[in-house]
Amino acid sequence: MQPVGKYGQEDAKKAIFKRFLEEKTMGGLMITEPDYGSDALSMQTSYNENSKHAHIKGTKHWAGLTGWADFWLLTARQQTESGNLQRDIDFFICDVNAPGQQIVVEEFYENLGLYMIPYGRNLIDVKIPLGYKLQPHSTGVKMMLDLLHRSRMQFPGMGMGFIQRMLDEAIEHCQQRFVGGKSLFEYDQVQQRLSKLQASYTVCSAMCANSSEKAGIDVDLVPHGMEANAVKSVITDLMQEAAQSLVQLVGAKAYRINHIGGRGTADSRPFQIFEGSNDILYAQISEGLIKLMKRAKENNLYQFLKEFDLSDKASEYLKEMTNFNLDFQMQQRKLVELGKVVGRVISMNQVLDLAKKGFREDLIEGGITMLKQDISKLISAFSFNNKTDVIEGYQENSSWLNFVKA
Ligand SMILES: Cc1cc2nc3c(=O)[nH]c(=O)nc-3n(C[C@H](O)[C@H](O)[C@H](O)COP(=O)(O)OP(=O)(O)OC[C@H]3O[C@@H](n4cnc5c(N)ncnc54)[C@H](O)[C@@H]3O)c2cc1C
Repeated sequence: MQPVGKYGQEDAKKAIFKRFLEEKTMGGLMITEPDYGSDALSMQTSYNENSKHAHIKGTKHWAGLTGWADFWLLTARQQTESGNLQRDIDFFICDVNAPGQQIVVEEFYENLGLYMIPYGRNLIDVKIPLGYKLQPHSTGVKMMLDLLHRSRMQFPGMGMGFIQRMLDEAIEHCQQRFVGGKSLFEYDQVQQRLSKLQASYTVCSAMCANSSEKAGIDVDLVPHGMEANAVKSVITDLMQEAAQSLVQLVGAKAYRINHIGGRGTADSRPFQIFEGSNDILYAQISEGLIKLMKRAKENNLYQFLKEFDLSDKASEYLKEMTNFNLDFQMQQRKLVELGKVVGRVISMNQVLDLAKKGFREDLIEGGITMLKQDISKLISAFSFNNKTDVIEGYQENSSWLNFVKA
């Protein structure tokens, strides 16, 4: 709805919104292809245009609501006369009930979680009227970035309900379950888990407040990649940790397909993969940081964070930990580790913004303590020098059976 609202042509918008409002239709987004997931810009779905239609051909998979949605946002690259594909990406609205716009589902996948959403592989061979092509303000790639960044900024909206449910289930269970003559609630390690869950609730609240102010439909989010990547990757890590923690606290009972904790681990897991794999997003956060630090001619992490608007308030809490010079040449694994640190610093800044607005102080304190502890662990991992690569052909001379006495 948001991409159509922002970039759709007037006639298409009118017709589509009417159907959403009156007929409860559903829509989905098809970007991913079997050979191009993270590397979406190299997608091979292509189109040719005449004066009326764009003829789109390709294969898309893993689109949520496969086989169910009435409308699809399809992404494709225009074919040039020489047969090559343009670098830019275009978006089309496909109305599967209109003539020449059916999408063939070749296979439904047996997804591990999120059972209520069908996924599969789709064969695309459709003719879309040109009035149903989205109109970028500059390039199609920038339009895609604006859409993706807004979507990433909105992840906390999904995280909020999820984390609150995990927290409430965990508190209720621990109050009622007695082990060794006392309630689980009274054990220190249990309190540690519950307080971490509660801290995640606070961080997610801060992110929701921040995104609702910053990520409105009218804002161009192309330049806000670092913040969007931080919000998406940190909140999805917290969602997964929340579900894992609930399972640990509930024990065997949670290891069931119909338990909210067990389901939560499988259902929250793909959030760390889709809309940008977290490993890649964390690396991109660091790449963005390094670019900005170079531009500011600043090598000291603390000095930079102090002046940077996404971290200026949090920096004081982290002075000791971050007061070192960064070597800008680093391996990808270090970029990922540093990105995890910076993602949590940015989150802490948002928590401090929420505090200023008058959110409960006790919850704010818990949120800050959790983030500080996580950042401290992550900085220590970052400063540990590990260049180990996988050893190929590792089976040779590595069976433990050869090293015990007969
Ligand atoms: C439940 C679910 C719902 C989805 N919904 C949609 C949807 O509605 N619409 C849609 O279009 N797509 C959807 N997807 C697809 C999703 O966006 C892709 O799975 C995602 O982009 C990753 O692509 P891939 O699976 O091909 O993995 P790959 O691109 O093969 O990447 C796999 C892993 O390799 C590593 N990796 C890849 N590149 C790099 C790199 N440059 N540096 C370091 N490591 C790297 C990362 O660990 C990454 O997670 C969904 C997927 C799932 C699981």
